[in-house]
Formats: sequence, structure tokens, C-alpha cells
Amino acid sequence: MSRELEHFYRVVEGVEKIFRLNNELARIIVQNIEKVMGKLVEKYGNDLKIKIMNFCGTHEWTVTHFGLRSLVPKNIELIAGPGCPVCVTPSHYIEEVLRLALDGVVVYTYGDTYRLRTVKPVKEVRSLSEARSLGALVKVVTSLAEAIEDSKKHGKDSIFIGIGFETVASGYAKAILSKAIPRNLKLLSLVKLTPPAMKYTLDIHRQELPVKGVIAPGHVSTIIGAKAWQKVSEEFKIPIVVSGFEPIDVMFSILEILKQLSEDRYRVVNEYKRAVTWSGDEVAQRMINEVFDVVDDAWRGIGFIPESGLRLKSRFRIFDAFEEFKIRELGKNEWVYDLSPGCRCADIILGKALPTNCPLFMKVCTPSTPVGPCMVSIEGTCSIWAKHGGMIAIEIAKDLGIDKG
Ligand code: SF4
Repeated sequence: MSRELEHFYRVVEGVEKIFRLNNELARIIVQNIEKVMGKLVEKYGNDLKIKIMNFCGTHEWTVTHFGLRSLVPKNIELIAGPGCPVCVTPSHYIEEVLRLALDGVVVYTYGDTYRLRTVKPVKEVRSLSEARSLGALVKVVTSLAEAIEDSKKHGKDSIFIGIGFETVASGYAKAILSKAIPRNLKLLSLVKLTPPAMKYTLDIHRQELPVKGVIAPGHVSTIIGAKAWQKVSEEFKIPIVVSGFEPIDVMFSILEILKQLSEDRYRVVNEYKRAVTWSGDEVAQRMINEVFDVVDDAWRGIGFIPESGLRLKSRFRIFDAFEEFKIRELGKNEWVYDLSPGCRCADIILGKALPTNCPLFMKVCTPSTPVGPCMVSIEGTCSIWAKHGGMIAIEIAKDLGIDKG
């Protein structure tokens, strides 16, 4: 590594205010990305393509909203991976909740799940928002705590749809262990785990152009720690950088990945030290292990990924919506492709296609008329591209003559 770059790393580590308004630092990072890429091209030739994948909807938001694709050399392909838990929740479970909602059970849900459309209608209804328009008691909340408070007031049979990654699981576990959940409220745990999904996705890309580096999810890593990615880095021999969510965080993570590639190294680096530790939140990890079993779980449009979901352990069945409301688990043999005809969400989630490759994107499927789940959630890649332009920043950069190609 050059002395200049060494100095740059020291500066980054020492600077507290490195974020959005620090144009000077942004400029240095971009220049260093170009410099390291120059070395890589010298080594591997002009046709070199470096695929870097992010695994968090918020990272995709940062990349797209701030036009970061226009700031990196054209040899770098920045793609989104499975970073949206709402997008991968099977239609089957939402259909089961719709049945309950229409039968009078109070449903608590996050806002994006409220608009999620099912593949099959239930009594002609295909989303919780439609169920509410028919009189069902569907309440949008921002947390389980809110659902607990509200359900205590009315005492009616209620269900909370627990969608999310590891980040939300510890909150659910704590509520259960502290017996904060009233008897009339049950948790439907549909929590998904990210490391198994990362392995599954990287494996798919091995058969084509392999992913050369990963920007690992910052929020999830606050719980599971940067160490959680070490096995993945070793198995796939790729750099993995746990990243924060400011544009400079992401650009720095890209630089770190390139730097490792140029030195023929691979390891996990924690760029997001202000929030993430190497070991993560061990108290949260213990609570999750105490309350949940790890199960093979279905991902919408994709199928079953081994050991990728969390369900309540049987000793906590009094809190379990599966038990209380006889919600049917999706068996491996009954899983069927559960996206609407023409929707390419599964390919987009796995980084095999871009939203603009979908024939329905911004024609039939828009943020106000979503067809697939990736257009519903704020973390869905199609929704992000629809609202913030996807590759438009590259077109603008070309027009302005500042294209990095
Ligand atoms: S644009 Fe709509 S239909 Fe196409 S993949 Fe995205 S969510 Fe699915």
C-alpha cells in the first residue's frame, strides 16, 4: 500500500466527522478507488469486471440515492443482494394472516408489510390494506412494543407479524423472556437470517461471474458482530467489509475491497466501528439462542434456504401465533413459486437481474401500483430504483462529462 494510502487510512480512523458534507474526504476516496483500480487493471487487463454485492436495502438506498455508481470506475458492478426481509416473506404466510384478519383477529404489522400483495387472493383480498378497507382490524405499528401496549388496551385476540432479520429478533426475544407480551397477543416469527442467505447467493454467482467483494449489512452486524462474516469470507475467499450507511462509508468499503483484491488478500474489515464490534451484542445473541430455533426457511420466489429462519422454541408456545391460530407451516414439498407472472423479484434479490430488466418496471409496476414485493418495501431494490433513479446518475454523469468510464 502506498504511503499516501496508509496516511489516508489513518486520517479516516482519526476523523470523527467523516460524513455527508466532507467533500474533501469523498474526493480522496474516489481518487484512491481509481488508483487501486488502475493497479488491478494493469494486473488483470482492461476487461476486468469486479462484482461487489451489498446485502442490505439501506446500502442499496445509499448507493442509488447518492448516485455512487457514477463515482466508481466502469469495471465495478455494484449490485444488490437479499437485503429486504419483507421482499422475501412467502406469500403463504401473508395469506394465512389475511384469513385471520377477515375472521376478526387484530393484526399488527409494519407499514411495508401492510401493502404486500399475495399471489393468491383470500376471499378476494390480496393485502392487509385491502382487508382493512373491508373492515378488518389491521393496525400499522413501528415495533412489537407498540403492539403490546395497544393490545393490552382492548384484550382481543391479536397477532403481530414479526418480519425482519437478526436486528429485530433480539427485541422479540427480550419481550418474551421478560413476559411483556399479554396473553391475547401472539408473535408470528418470520425472522430470516442473513449469513445463510449470503452463502446461498454467493454460491449462485460462483457459476457465472463470481462476486469479488461484499458490503456486509451494518444493522444486522450490530447484533451478530463482524465475526459472523469470517467463515463466508474464508469459504469464498473474498473481502467482506461491514459498512455504515453514509455515502462515504460505502465508498470507503468499496476502496477497502479493491485494496484487498489488489494485494491478493481477503478478510473481514469492520468499517462501521462506531456501531459494530467484532463479537456483536452477546447479550442479544444469547437471548435469540434461548428463545428461537433455527429452521430451514422459505424465501419468496427463491425456495428453501437451509438454516435461514427463526421460529419460537416449543417451550414458548404460549406466545406463538403458529400454535394459537393453527397457522400452517409451509412444507418443503408444498413450496411453489410465489411471485406474480412476469415479476423478477427473485432474480433481483439474488443479484441476477436489475429492476430495469423487468418488463413490468415502471410500466405496470410502480410504487403506487406495486406488483411484486420488491416494489413495496422501502428496502426493496425496485422501489429504491423507482424513487431514486437506479442507473440515472450514470447517465447524468455521462452528460456532464464526468463519467468514470
Ligand atoms: S418491477 Fe415490480 S414486477 Fe418487476 S421485479 Fe420489481 S417488483 Fe417485481
